[in-house]
Amino acid sequence: MASQPGLSYPAMSLKILDTCVNCDVCEPACPNKAISLGEEFYVIDPALCTECVGHHDEPQCVVVCPVECIISDPDHVESPQQLELKYRHLMTRESAA
Ligand code: SF4
Ligand code: SF4
Repeated sequence: MASQPGLSYPAMSLKILDTCVNCDVCEPACPNKAISLGEEFYVIDPALCTECVGHHDEPQCVVVCPVECIISDPDHVESPQQLELKYRHLMTRESAA
């Protein structure tokens, strides 16, 4: 399975486990506004998560999470090329807004 350069896990959007303690740290760290508070804990919108491709060398939510509850989402496997395309699409949408 493809790996993003610099990452030790397969390229795909990420998901937050129910061990999230709702500390609010990851939400402002996300450059794509992909993280929001769900019904019980924070969630990641896979349509907006690029694994931080285009913005940072590593996923910022993973970097800041104090309880390591953010993992790769096996239901949303994407290649590095797909993540890059998603990043470009999001940037085009943002500049058109
Ligand atoms: Fe946001 Fe990056 Fe985390 Fe995806 S990996 S949710 S883009 S901070
Ligand atoms: Fe939950 Fe981790 Fe985000 Fe804190 S940083 S809200 S524990 S996912």
